Amino acid sequence: MNNQLNGPGKILIVGGGTAGWMTAMLLAKAWPGTPSEICLLESSDIGIIGVGEGSTPKMRRFFDGLDIPESQWMPACNATYKCGIRFPQWSTRKGYKSYYHPFFSIHDDSTVRAFANSVAHRRANIDVPAHPDAFFVSNHLANDELAPKPDPELEYQSEYAYHFEAGLIGRFLQERAIASGVTHLIDTVTAVKQHDNGDIARVETKDRGSIAADFFVDCTGFASVLTSKTLGVPFLSYKDTLFNDRAVALPTPLDGRSLPSQTISTALKYGWAWKIPLSNRFGNGYVYASDYIDADGAERELREHIGLNDDSVTARHLKMRVGRVESSWNGNCLAVGLSQGFIEPLEATALMIVQDTVENFITRFTEGHFTDKYRAEFNVKINLIFDSIKDYIFMHYKLNSRNDTNYWVDNRENTHVSDSLRQILDVWDSGGDMLGELRRQGPRLAYSPTSWFCILAGMGRFPRKPKKAKRNTQVSDPDELRRYCEKIVRHFPGHRDTIDAMRAAS
Ligand SMILES: Cc1cc2nc3c(=O)[nH]c(=O)nc-3n(C[C@H](O)[C@H](O)[C@H](O)COP(=O)(O)OP(=O)(O)OC[C@H]3O[C@@H](n4cnc5c(N)ncnc54)[C@H](O)[C@@H]3O)c2cc1C
Repeated sequence: MNNQLNGPGKILIVGGGTAGWMTAMLLAKAWPGTPSEICLLESSDIGIIGVGEGSTPKMRRFFDGLDIPESQWMPACNATYKCGIRFPQWSTRKGYKSYYHPFFSIHDDSTVRAFANSVAHRRANIDVPAHPDAFFVSNHLANDELAPKPDPELEYQSEYAYHFEAGLIGRFLQERAIASGVTHLIDTVTAVKQHDNGDIARVETKDRGSIAADFFVDCTGFASVLTSKTLGVPFLSYKDTLFNDRAVALPTPLDGRSLPSQTISTALKYGWAWKIPLSNRFGNGYVYASDYIDADGAERELREHIGLNDDSVTARHLKMRVGRVESSWNGNCLAVGLSQGFIEPLEATALMIVQDTVENFITRFTEGHFTDKYRAEFNVKINLIFDSIKDYIFMHYKLNSRNDTNYWVDNRENTHVSDSLRQILDVWDSGGDMLGELRRQGPRLAYSPTSWFCILAGMGRFPRKPKKAKRNTQVSDPDELRRYCEKIVRHFPGHRDTIDAMRAAS
Protein backbone atom coordinates (compact mmCIF):
# COMPACT_ATOMS: atom_id res chain seq x y z
CA MET A 1 0.00 0.00 0.00
CA ASN A 2 1.34 3.43 -0.85
CA ASN A 3 1.42 5.08 2.57
CA GLN A 4 3.37 8.10 1.32
CA LEU A 5 0.45 9.52 -0.58
CA ASN A 6 -1.67 12.22 0.89
CA GLY A 7 -4.65 9.93 0.37
CA PRO A 8 -5.33 6.24 -0.09
CA GLY A 9 -3.69 6.16 -3.50
CA LYS A 10 -5.18 4.29 -6.40
CA ILE A 11 -8.25 2.28 -5.39
CA LEU A 12 -9.58 -0.54 -7.55
CA ILE A 13 -13.12 -1.69 -6.77
CA VAL A 14 -13.74 -5.08 -8.37
CA GLY A 15 -17.47 -5.68 -8.94
CA GLY A 16 -20.28 -3.49 -10.22
CA GLY A 17 -23.30 -4.71 -8.25
CA THR A 18 -25.08 -2.47 -5.77
CA ALA A 19 -22.25 -2.92 -3.26
CA GLY A 20 -19.61 -1.85 -5.80
CA TRP A 21 -21.42 1.31 -6.85
CA MET A 22 -22.43 2.27 -3.31
CA THR A 23 -18.77 1.90 -2.32
CA ALA A 24 -17.65 4.00 -5.28
CA MET A 25 -20.05 6.79 -4.36
CA LEU A 26 -19.06 6.83 -0.69
CA LEU A 27 -15.32 6.77 -1.41
CA ALA A 28 -15.62 9.44 -4.10
CA LYS A 29 -17.46 11.66 -1.64
CA ALA A 30 -14.94 11.02 1.15
CA TRP A 31 -11.80 11.47 -0.96
CA PRO A 32 -12.64 13.62 -3.96
CA GLY A 33 -10.12 14.50 -6.65
CA THR A 34 -6.42 13.68 -6.90
CA PRO A 35 -4.32 12.01 -5.70
CA SER A 36 -7.12 9.56 -5.01
CA GLU A 37 -8.03 7.69 -8.08
CA ILE A 38 -11.05 5.42 -7.89
CA CYS A 39 -11.62 2.83 -10.55
CA LEU A 40 -14.45 0.28 -10.72
CA LEU A 41 -13.92 -2.88 -12.75
CA GLU A 42 -16.81 -5.22 -13.49
CA SER A 43 -17.28 -8.23 -15.69
CA SER A 44 -19.78 -8.27 -18.54
CA ASP A 45 -19.66 -12.09 -18.44
CA ILE A 46 -20.69 -12.38 -14.79
CA GLY A 47 -24.01 -10.78 -13.91
CA ILE A 48 -25.03 -9.07 -10.70
CA ILE A 49 -27.24 -10.95 -8.25
CA GLY A 50 -30.14 -8.68 -9.24
CA VAL A 51 -32.28 -9.18 -6.12
CA GLY A 52 -32.48 -7.10 -2.96
CA GLU A 53 -35.46 -4.80 -3.05
CA GLY A 54 -35.88 -3.90 0.60
CA SER A 55 -33.88 -1.59 2.87
CA THR A 56 -33.63 -0.11 6.35
CA PRO A 57 -33.85 3.58 7.31
CA LYS A 58 -30.08 3.81 6.93
CA MET A 59 -30.65 4.00 3.18
CA ARG A 60 -32.16 7.46 3.72
CA ARG A 61 -28.87 8.55 5.27
CA PHE A 62 -27.03 7.15 2.25
CA PHE A 63 -28.89 9.29 -0.27
CA ASP A 64 -29.08 12.31 2.05
CA GLY A 65 -25.32 12.12 2.61
CA LEU A 66 -24.77 12.20 -1.14
CA ASP A 67 -27.23 15.09 -1.58
CA ILE A 68 -29.39 13.03 -3.93
CA PRO A 69 -33.06 13.91 -3.39
CA GLU A 70 -35.78 11.25 -3.46
CA SER A 71 -37.37 13.01 -6.44
CA GLN A 72 -34.29 12.08 -8.50
CA TRP A 73 -33.48 8.54 -7.54
CA MET A 74 -36.85 7.05 -6.51
CA PRO A 75 -38.62 7.33 -9.91
CA ALA A 76 -35.47 6.07 -11.66
CA CYS A 77 -35.47 2.93 -9.50
CA ASN A 78 -39.24 2.24 -9.38
CA ALA A 79 -38.92 2.90 -5.67
CA THR A 80 -41.65 3.06 -3.04
CA TYR A 81 -41.71 3.92 0.66
CA LYS A 82 -41.41 1.30 3.36
CA CYS A 83 -42.92 1.97 6.81
CA GLY A 84 -41.99 -1.42 8.26
CA ILE A 85 -42.37 -5.19 7.85
CA ARG A 86 -45.38 -7.37 8.60
CA PHE A 87 -44.77 -10.98 9.69
CA PRO A 88 -47.82 -13.21 9.19
CA GLN A 89 -47.97 -16.90 10.13
CA TRP A 90 -44.76 -17.11 12.14
CA SER A 91 -46.71 -17.70 15.32
CA THR A 92 -49.79 -19.88 15.75
CA ARG A 93 -50.68 -18.38 19.14
CA LYS A 94 -54.19 -17.00 19.36
CA GLY A 95 -54.15 -13.23 18.89
CA TYR A 96 -50.54 -13.27 17.65
CA LYS A 97 -50.77 -14.79 14.17
CA SER A 98 -49.27 -11.70 12.62
CA TYR A 99 -47.26 -8.75 13.87
CA TYR A 100 -45.64 -5.67 12.46
CA HIS A 101 -42.05 -4.51 13.01
CA PRO A 102 -42.26 -0.73 12.65
CA PHE A 103 -39.55 1.79 11.98
CA PHE A 104 -39.74 3.99 15.05
CA SER A 105 -39.76 7.70 15.40
CA ILE A 106 -38.77 9.77 18.44
CA HIS A 107 -42.38 10.94 18.40
CA ASP A 108 -43.46 7.43 19.36
CA ASP A 109 -42.03 8.05 22.80
CA SER A 110 -45.35 8.11 24.66
CA THR A 111 -46.78 5.06 22.92
CA VAL A 112 -43.51 3.16 23.38
CA ARG A 113 -43.79 3.74 27.13
CA ALA A 114 -47.42 2.59 27.06
CA PHE A 115 -46.32 -0.50 25.14
CA ALA A 116 -43.53 -1.30 27.63
CA ASN A 117 -45.99 -0.93 30.51
CA SER A 118 -48.58 -3.25 28.94
CA VAL A 119 -45.88 -5.79 28.09
CA ALA A 120 -44.62 -5.72 31.68
CA HIS A 121 -48.13 -6.56 32.93
CA ARG A 122 -48.61 -9.29 30.36
CA ARG A 123 -45.23 -10.84 31.21
CA ALA A 124 -46.40 -10.82 34.82
CA ASN A 125 -49.29 -13.01 33.61
CA ILE A 126 -51.99 -10.35 33.75
CA ASP A 127 -54.40 -10.38 30.84
CA VAL A 128 -53.94 -6.98 29.20
CA PRO A 129 -53.62 -6.20 25.46
CA ALA A 130 -49.89 -6.23 24.68
CA HIS A 131 -49.72 -6.90 20.96
CA PRO A 132 -47.33 -4.29 19.48
CA ASP A 133 -49.57 -3.48 16.50
CA ALA A 134 -51.86 -1.33 18.64
CA PHE A 135 -49.09 0.99 19.78
CA PHE A 136 -47.34 2.35 16.72
CA VAL A 137 -48.33 5.06 14.26
CA SER A 138 -46.22 3.32 11.63
CA ASN A 139 -48.51 0.29 11.71
CA HIS A 140 -51.49 2.50 10.93
CA LEU A 141 -49.60 4.17 8.08
CA ALA A 142 -48.84 0.78 6.56
CA ASN A 143 -52.36 -0.58 7.08
CA ASP A 144 -53.87 2.47 5.40
CA GLU A 145 -51.34 2.45 2.50
CA LEU A 146 -50.04 5.90 3.38
CA ALA A 147 -46.68 7.46 2.55
CA PRO A 148 -44.50 8.27 5.58
CA LYS A 149 -44.26 11.94 4.49
CA PRO A 150 -46.53 14.04 6.71
CA ASP A 151 -47.65 17.52 5.84
CA PRO A 152 -45.02 19.93 7.17
CA GLU A 153 -47.49 21.44 9.67
CA LEU A 154 -47.43 18.24 11.70
CA GLU A 155 -44.67 18.01 14.27
CA TYR A 156 -44.44 14.27 13.81
CA GLN A 157 -41.69 12.79 11.69
CA SER A 158 -41.99 9.18 10.74
CA GLU A 159 -38.91 7.04 10.22
CA TYR A 160 -38.98 5.02 7.01
CA ALA A 161 -36.99 3.13 4.40
CA TYR A 162 -37.53 2.22 0.74
CA HIS A 163 -38.26 -0.58 -1.67
CA PHE A 164 -36.53 -0.37 -5.07
CA GLU A 165 -35.60 -2.40 -8.11
CA ALA A 166 -32.20 -4.00 -7.48
CA GLY A 167 -30.81 -3.68 -11.02
CA LEU A 168 -31.93 -0.07 -11.41
CA ILE A 169 -30.35 1.23 -8.22
CA GLY A 170 -26.93 0.00 -9.35
CA ARG A 171 -27.41 1.65 -12.74
CA PHE A 172 -28.49 4.94 -11.15
CA LEU A 173 -25.47 4.97 -8.83
CA GLN A 174 -23.18 4.02 -11.70
CA GLU A 175 -24.18 7.13 -13.66
CA ARG A 176 -23.67 9.32 -10.61
CA ALA A 177 -20.34 7.75 -9.72
CA ILE A 178 -18.97 8.17 -13.24
CA ALA A 179 -20.18 11.78 -13.27
CA SER A 180 -18.30 12.38 -10.02
CA GLY A 181 -15.05 11.12 -11.53
CA VAL A 182 -14.98 7.36 -10.92
CA THR A 183 -13.36 5.44 -13.79
CA HIS A 184 -15.46 2.52 -15.08
CA LEU A 185 -13.78 -0.47 -16.71
CA ILE A 186 -15.43 -3.58 -18.09
CA ASP A 187 -13.39 -6.75 -17.98
CA THR A 188 -13.14 -10.04 -16.12
CA VAL A 189 -10.50 -10.76 -13.51
CA THR A 190 -8.77 -14.03 -14.41
CA ALA A 191 -6.00 -14.01 -11.78
CA VAL A 192 -4.86 -11.98 -8.79
CA LYS A 193 -1.17 -11.33 -8.06
CA GLN A 194 0.16 -10.66 -4.57
CA HIS A 195 3.24 -8.92 -3.15
CA ASP A 196 5.63 -10.94 -0.99
CA ASN A 197 3.88 -9.67 2.14
CA GLY A 198 0.55 -11.05 0.92
CA ASP A 199 -0.95 -7.70 -0.10
CA ILE A 200 -2.64 -7.62 -3.47
CA ALA A 201 -0.44 -6.11 -6.17
CA ARG A 202 -2.62 -6.30 -9.27
CA VAL A 203 -5.38 -8.17 -11.04
CA GLU A 204 -4.95 -9.84 -14.41
CA THR A 205 -7.88 -9.38 -16.75
CA LYS A 206 -9.15 -11.14 -19.84
CA ASP A 207 -8.67 -8.24 -22.28
CA ARG A 208 -6.77 -5.41 -20.58
CA GLY A 209 -3.85 -7.23 -19.04
CA SER A 210 -2.71 -6.17 -15.56
CA ILE A 211 -4.38 -3.51 -13.45
CA ALA A 212 -2.38 -2.46 -10.38
CA ALA A 213 -3.62 -0.41 -7.43
CA ASP A 214 -2.64 0.64 -3.92
CA PHE A 215 -5.90 -0.51 -2.38
CA PHE A 216 -8.51 -3.03 -3.54
CA VAL A 217 -12.18 -3.35 -2.70
CA ASP A 218 -13.67 -6.79 -3.26
CA CYS A 219 -17.29 -6.37 -4.40
CA THR A 220 -17.38 -9.56 -6.46
CA GLY A 221 -20.49 -10.96 -4.79
CA PHE A 222 -20.69 -14.52 -3.49
CA ALA A 223 -17.62 -15.41 -5.64
CA SER A 224 -15.47 -13.33 -3.24
CA VAL A 225 -12.65 -13.41 -5.78
CA LEU A 226 -10.11 -11.38 -3.79
CA THR A 227 -11.03 -12.11 -0.18
CA SER A 228 -11.96 -15.79 -0.13
CA LYS A 229 -10.38 -17.13 -3.32
CA THR A 230 -7.09 -15.17 -3.31
CA LEU A 231 -6.40 -14.26 0.30
CA GLY A 232 -8.03 -17.42 1.64
CA VAL A 233 -9.81 -15.60 4.45
CA PRO A 234 -11.88 -18.27 6.26
CA PHE A 235 -15.65 -18.13 5.86
CA LEU A 236 -17.73 -18.66 9.00
CA SER A 237 -21.06 -20.18 8.03
CA TYR A 238 -24.25 -19.33 9.95
CA LYS A 239 -25.83 -22.59 8.84
CA ASP A 240 -26.15 -23.89 12.40
CA THR A 241 -28.59 -21.08 13.24
CA LEU A 242 -29.90 -19.84 9.89
CA PHE A 243 -30.99 -22.89 7.88
CA ASN A 244 -32.11 -21.09 4.70
CA ASP A 245 -29.62 -21.28 1.83
CA ARG A 246 -31.74 -20.85 -1.32
CA ALA A 247 -34.30 -18.47 -2.75
CA VAL A 248 -36.68 -18.38 -5.67
CA ALA A 249 -38.04 -15.07 -6.97
CA LEU A 250 -41.08 -14.22 -9.14
CA PRO A 251 -42.66 -10.88 -10.08
CA THR A 252 -46.43 -10.28 -10.06
CA PRO A 253 -48.52 -7.29 -11.18
CA LEU A 254 -49.81 -4.74 -8.69
CA ASP A 255 -53.45 -4.94 -7.55
CA GLY A 256 -55.03 -2.03 -9.40
CA ARG A 257 -54.36 1.33 -7.73
CA SER A 258 -53.41 -0.21 -4.41
CA LEU A 259 -49.78 0.42 -3.42
CA PRO A 260 -48.80 -0.90 0.02
CA SER A 261 -46.07 0.87 2.00
CA GLN A 262 -44.79 -2.18 3.84
CA THR A 263 -42.93 -5.41 3.13
CA ILE A 264 -44.87 -8.57 3.94
CA SER A 265 -42.79 -11.56 5.06
CA THR A 266 -45.06 -14.57 5.40
CA ALA A 267 -43.85 -17.82 6.94
CA LEU A 268 -44.40 -20.77 4.57
CA LYS A 269 -43.68 -24.48 5.12
CA TYR A 270 -39.88 -24.41 4.81
CA GLY A 271 -38.98 -20.74 5.06
CA TRP A 272 -40.72 -17.48 4.32
CA ALA A 273 -41.94 -15.44 1.36
CA TRP A 274 -41.36 -11.74 0.76
CA LYS A 275 -43.84 -9.50 -1.01
CA ILE A 276 -42.34 -6.14 -1.88
CA PRO A 277 -44.34 -3.39 -3.60
CA LEU A 278 -42.45 -1.48 -6.28
CA SER A 279 -44.07 1.32 -8.25
CA ASN A 280 -44.62 -0.96 -11.26
CA ARG A 281 -44.96 -4.50 -9.82
CA PHE A 282 -44.60 -6.71 -6.76
CA GLY A 283 -41.34 -8.52 -6.13
CA ASN A 284 -41.99 -11.91 -4.52
CA GLY A 285 -39.61 -14.55 -3.34
CA TYR A 286 -39.36 -17.63 -1.16
CA VAL A 287 -36.29 -17.98 1.05
CA TYR A 288 -36.01 -21.64 2.03
CA ALA A 289 -33.72 -24.39 3.30
CA SER A 290 -32.57 -26.89 0.67
CA ASP A 291 -32.18 -29.53 3.41
CA TYR A 292 -35.99 -29.57 3.67
CA ILE A 293 -37.39 -28.80 0.20
CA ASP A 294 -35.98 -28.87 -3.34
CA ALA A 295 -36.07 -26.04 -5.88
CA ASP A 296 -39.11 -27.37 -7.79
CA GLY A 297 -41.09 -27.84 -4.60
CA ALA A 298 -40.18 -24.35 -3.41
CA GLU A 299 -41.23 -22.79 -6.71
CA ARG A 300 -44.54 -24.67 -6.60
CA GLU A 301 -45.21 -23.53 -3.06
CA LEU A 302 -44.36 -19.92 -3.90
CA ARG A 303 -46.60 -19.94 -6.99
CA GLU A 304 -49.44 -21.32 -4.92
CA HIS A 305 -48.85 -18.74 -2.19
CA ILE A 306 -48.97 -15.78 -4.59
CA GLY A 307 -51.65 -17.31 -6.83
CA LEU A 308 -49.45 -17.32 -9.93
CA ASN A 309 -50.33 -20.18 -12.24
CA ASP A 310 -48.93 -18.50 -15.33
CA ASP A 311 -45.94 -20.66 -16.33
CA SER A 312 -44.79 -18.04 -18.85
CA VAL A 313 -43.50 -15.97 -15.91
CA THR A 314 -40.17 -17.62 -15.21
CA ALA A 315 -38.75 -17.90 -11.73
CA ARG A 316 -35.17 -17.04 -10.74
CA HIS A 317 -33.49 -19.59 -8.48
CA LEU A 318 -30.63 -18.40 -6.27
CA LYS A 319 -28.10 -19.97 -3.93
CA MET A 320 -27.05 -18.03 -0.85
CA ARG A 321 -23.74 -18.22 1.01
CA VAL A 322 -24.97 -17.36 4.50
CA GLY A 323 -22.35 -16.31 7.03
CA ARG A 324 -19.40 -13.94 7.03
CA VAL A 325 -15.68 -13.91 6.37
CA GLU A 326 -13.45 -13.97 9.43
CA SER A 327 -12.32 -10.41 8.67
CA SER A 328 -13.53 -7.95 6.04
CA TRP A 329 -10.38 -5.81 5.86
CA ASN A 330 -7.27 -7.84 5.09
CA GLY A 331 -4.00 -6.14 4.18
CA ASN A 332 -4.77 -3.74 1.35
CA CYS A 333 -8.14 -5.30 0.53
CA LEU A 334 -11.60 -4.51 1.88
CA ALA A 335 -14.49 -6.90 1.23
CA VAL A 336 -17.87 -5.21 0.82
CA GLY A 337 -21.28 -6.75 0.09
CA LEU A 338 -21.91 -10.42 -0.63
CA SER A 339 -18.15 -11.03 -0.88
CA GLN A 340 -17.82 -10.30 2.85
CA GLY A 341 -20.93 -12.19 3.92
CA PHE A 342 -24.68 -12.36 3.86
CA ILE A 343 -27.44 -12.75 6.40
CA GLU A 344 -30.64 -14.00 4.85
CA PRO A 345 -32.85 -11.05 3.85
CA LEU A 346 -35.61 -11.30 6.49
CA GLU A 347 -34.96 -7.77 7.78
CA ALA A 348 -33.40 -6.48 4.51
CA THR A 349 -30.11 -5.61 6.19
CA ALA A 350 -27.50 -6.37 3.49
CA LEU A 351 -27.15 -2.88 2.02
CA MET A 352 -27.16 -1.40 5.52
CA ILE A 353 -24.06 -3.52 6.24
CA VAL A 354 -22.49 -2.32 2.98
CA GLN A 355 -22.96 1.24 4.17
CA ASP A 356 -21.71 0.47 7.69
CA THR A 357 -18.64 -1.26 6.31
CA VAL A 358 -17.61 1.50 3.93
CA GLU A 359 -18.38 4.34 6.34
CA ASN A 360 -16.44 2.68 9.15
CA PHE A 361 -13.58 1.94 6.79
CA ILE A 362 -13.39 5.57 5.66
CA THR A 363 -13.31 6.74 9.28
CA ARG A 364 -10.69 4.26 10.46
CA PHE A 365 -8.50 4.51 7.36
CA THR A 366 -8.48 8.29 7.59
CA GLU A 367 -7.80 8.28 11.33
CA GLY A 368 -4.92 5.89 10.72
CA HIS A 369 -3.46 8.26 8.09
CA PHE A 370 -4.25 5.86 5.26
CA THR A 371 -2.55 2.90 6.89
CA ASP A 372 -3.96 -0.27 8.41
CA LYS A 373 -3.42 1.02 11.97
CA TYR A 374 -7.05 0.49 13.00
CA ARG A 375 -7.75 -2.56 10.88
CA ALA A 376 -8.17 -4.98 13.80
CA GLU A 377 -10.65 -2.68 15.58
CA PHE A 378 -12.54 -2.19 12.34
CA ASN A 379 -12.85 -5.94 11.82
CA VAL A 380 -14.10 -6.49 15.37
CA LYS A 381 -16.78 -3.87 14.79
CA ILE A 382 -17.96 -5.22 11.44
CA ASN A 383 -18.02 -8.78 12.78
CA LEU A 384 -20.14 -7.61 15.68
CA ILE A 385 -22.60 -5.97 13.29
CA PHE A 386 -22.93 -9.23 11.37
CA ASP A 387 -23.23 -11.46 14.43
CA SER A 388 -25.70 -9.22 16.23
CA ILE A 389 -27.99 -8.96 13.19
CA LYS A 390 -27.76 -12.74 12.85
CA ASP A 391 -28.97 -13.09 16.45
CA TYR A 392 -32.02 -10.90 15.84
CA ILE A 393 -32.88 -12.77 12.63
CA PHE A 394 -32.49 -16.11 14.39
CA MET A 395 -34.92 -14.93 17.08
CA HIS A 396 -37.73 -15.01 14.49
CA TYR A 397 -37.11 -18.72 13.98
CA LYS A 398 -36.50 -19.55 17.62
CA LEU A 399 -39.82 -17.99 18.67
CA ASN A 400 -41.97 -19.69 16.02
CA SER A 401 -44.75 -21.93 17.31
CA ARG A 402 -45.57 -23.81 14.08
CA ASN A 403 -45.76 -27.59 14.06
CA ASP A 404 -46.72 -28.20 10.43
CA THR A 405 -43.22 -29.27 9.28
CA ASN A 406 -39.96 -30.53 10.79
CA TYR A 407 -38.37 -27.35 9.53
CA TRP A 408 -40.25 -25.21 12.04
CA VAL A 409 -39.88 -27.69 14.88
CA ASP A 410 -36.12 -27.97 14.22
CA ASN A 411 -35.81 -24.20 14.17
CA ARG A 412 -37.61 -23.84 17.48
CA GLU A 413 -35.63 -26.64 19.10
CA ASN A 414 -32.30 -25.44 17.71
CA THR A 415 -29.86 -25.30 20.60
CA HIS A 416 -27.23 -23.16 18.82
CA VAL A 417 -28.30 -20.11 20.75
CA SER A 418 -25.70 -17.43 21.46
CA ASP A 419 -25.08 -16.41 25.09
CA SER A 420 -26.55 -13.02 24.31
CA LEU A 421 -29.82 -14.47 23.00
CA ARG A 422 -30.08 -17.03 25.76
CA GLN A 423 -29.75 -14.26 28.33
CA ILE A 424 -32.42 -12.16 26.60
CA LEU A 425 -34.83 -15.09 26.52
CA ASP A 426 -34.13 -16.03 30.15
CA VAL A 427 -34.74 -12.51 31.39
CA TRP A 428 -37.90 -12.16 29.31
CA ASP A 429 -39.36 -15.51 30.36
CA SER A 430 -38.55 -15.06 34.04
CA GLY A 431 -40.17 -11.63 34.17
CA GLY A 432 -36.80 -9.97 34.90
CA ASP A 433 -35.63 -6.46 34.05
CA MET A 434 -35.76 -6.69 30.25
CA LEU A 435 -34.91 -3.10 29.51
CA GLY A 436 -31.96 -3.31 31.91
CA GLU A 437 -30.72 -6.47 30.19
CA LEU A 438 -31.03 -4.95 26.71
CA ARG A 439 -29.25 -1.81 27.86
CA ARG A 440 -26.52 -3.89 29.48
CA GLN A 441 -25.99 -5.69 26.18
CA GLY A 442 -26.59 -2.46 24.24
CA PRO A 443 -23.26 -2.09 22.42
CA ARG A 444 -23.42 -5.61 21.07
CA LEU A 445 -27.06 -5.52 19.90
CA ALA A 446 -27.94 -4.39 16.38
CA TYR A 447 -31.57 -3.66 17.23
CA SER A 448 -33.15 -1.25 19.67
CA PRO A 449 -34.90 -2.44 22.85
CA THR A 450 -38.25 -1.57 21.23
CA SER A 451 -37.51 -3.93 18.34
CA TRP A 452 -36.75 -6.73 20.83
CA PHE A 453 -39.96 -6.01 22.71
CA CYS A 454 -41.87 -6.01 19.40
CA ILE A 455 -40.60 -9.39 18.27
CA LEU A 456 -41.07 -11.11 21.64
CA ALA A 457 -44.51 -9.60 22.26
CA GLY A 458 -45.54 -9.79 18.60
CA MET A 459 -44.88 -13.53 18.47
CA GLY A 460 -46.88 -13.94 21.69
CA ARG A 461 -44.02 -15.13 23.92
CA PHE A 462 -46.07 -14.69 27.11
CA PRO A 463 -47.11 -16.97 29.97
CA ARG A 464 -50.17 -19.07 29.17
CA LYS A 465 -53.52 -18.71 30.95
CA PRO A 466 -53.11 -15.13 32.16
CA LYS A 467 -55.06 -13.88 35.17
CA LYS A 468 -57.87 -11.43 34.65
CA ALA A 469 -56.68 -7.85 35.12
CA LYS A 470 -57.93 -6.03 38.22
CA ARG A 471 -60.14 -3.03 37.59
CA ASN A 472 -57.47 -0.62 38.77
CA THR A 473 -54.70 -2.06 36.53
CA GLN A 474 -52.93 0.91 34.99
CA VAL A 475 -52.47 0.18 31.28
CA SER A 476 -53.35 2.22 28.21
CA ASP A 477 -56.77 1.80 26.69
CA PRO A 478 -56.38 0.28 23.17
CA ASP A 479 -59.23 2.43 21.84
CA GLU A 480 -57.53 5.56 23.08
CA LEU A 481 -54.25 4.50 21.44
CA ARG A 482 -56.05 3.78 18.20
CA ARG A 483 -57.69 7.21 18.26
CA TYR A 484 -54.30 8.83 18.94
CA CYS A 485 -52.68 7.05 15.99
CA GLU A 486 -55.64 7.74 13.71
CA LYS A 487 -55.46 11.43 14.57
CA ILE A 488 -51.82 11.52 13.50
CA VAL A 489 -52.13 9.49 10.31
CA ARG A 490 -54.76 11.90 9.00
CA HIS A 491 -51.84 14.20 8.16
CA PHE A 492 -50.17 11.68 5.85
CA PRO A 493 -50.85 11.40 2.10
CA GLY A 494 -51.78 8.25 0.20
CA HIS A 495 -48.80 6.19 -0.89
CA ARG A 496 -50.00 5.65 -4.46
CA ASP A 497 -50.74 9.37 -4.97
CA THR A 498 -47.36 10.37 -3.54
CA ILE A 499 -45.42 7.98 -5.76
CA ASP A 500 -47.47 8.88 -8.86
CA ALA A 501 -46.91 12.60 -8.27
CA MET A 502 -43.17 12.09 -7.84
CA ARG A 503 -42.96 10.05 -11.03
CA ALA A 504 -45.04 12.55 -12.99
CA ALA A 505 -42.73 15.38 -11.91
CA SER A 506 -39.52 13.52 -12.78
C1 LIG B 1 -32.68 -13.77 -2.21
C2 LIG B 1 -31.99 -12.51 -1.82
C3 LIG B 1 -32.73 -11.44 -1.36
C4 LIG B 1 -32.10 -10.26 -0.97
N1 LIG B 1 -32.85 -9.24 -0.46
C5 LIG B 1 -32.22 -8.14 0.00
C6 LIG B 1 -32.96 -7.06 0.56
O1 LIG B 1 -34.19 -7.08 0.64
N2 LIG B 1 -32.27 -5.99 1.01
C7 LIG B 1 -30.91 -5.91 0.95
O2 LIG B 1 -30.33 -4.93 1.40
N3 LIG B 1 -30.21 -6.90 0.37
C8 LIG B 1 -30.82 -7.99 -0.09
N4 LIG B 1 -30.08 -8.98 -0.66
C9 LIG B 1 -28.64 -8.79 -0.81
C10 LIG B 1 -28.37 -7.90 -2.01
O3 LIG B 1 -28.88 -8.50 -3.17
C11 LIG B 1 -26.89 -7.66 -2.17
O4 LIG B 1 -26.34 -7.29 -0.94
C12 LIG B 1 -26.63 -6.54 -3.14
O5 LIG B 1 -27.27 -6.77 -4.35
C13 LIG B 1 -25.16 -6.35 -3.37
O6 LIG B 1 -24.62 -7.43 -4.08
P1 LIG B 1 -23.10 -7.34 -4.47
O7 LIG B 1 -22.87 -6.07 -5.18
O8 LIG B 1 -22.27 -7.63 -3.28
O9 LIG B 1 -22.89 -8.58 -5.46
P2 LIG B 1 -23.40 -8.81 -6.98
O10 LIG B 1 -24.65 -8.10 -7.28
O11 LIG B 1 -23.40 -10.29 -7.16
O12 LIG B 1 -22.27 -8.18 -7.88
C14 LIG B 1 -21.04 -8.84 -8.10
C15 LIG B 1 -20.24 -8.06 -9.13
O13 LIG B 1 -18.94 -8.62 -9.19
C16 LIG B 1 -18.56 -8.77 -10.54
N5 LIG B 1 -17.60 -9.88 -10.63
C17 LIG B 1 -17.69 -11.11 -10.10
N6 LIG B 1 -16.61 -11.84 -10.44
C18 LIG B 1 -15.82 -11.04 -11.20
C19 LIG B 1 -14.59 -11.20 -11.87
N7 LIG B 1 -13.92 -12.37 -11.85
N8 LIG B 1 -14.09 -10.17 -12.58
C20 LIG B 1 -14.74 -8.98 -12.64
N9 LIG B 1 -15.91 -8.76 -12.02
C21 LIG B 1 -16.44 -9.78 -11.32
C22 LIG B 1 -19.85 -9.05 -11.29
O14 LIG B 1 -19.73 -8.72 -12.65
C23 LIG B 1 -20.80 -8.10 -10.55
O15 LIG B 1 -20.70 -6.82 -11.13
C24 LIG B 1 -30.69 -10.15 -1.07
C25 LIG B 1 -29.95 -11.21 -1.57
C26 LIG B 1 -30.57 -12.39 -1.93
C27 LIG B 1 -29.75 -13.54 -2.43
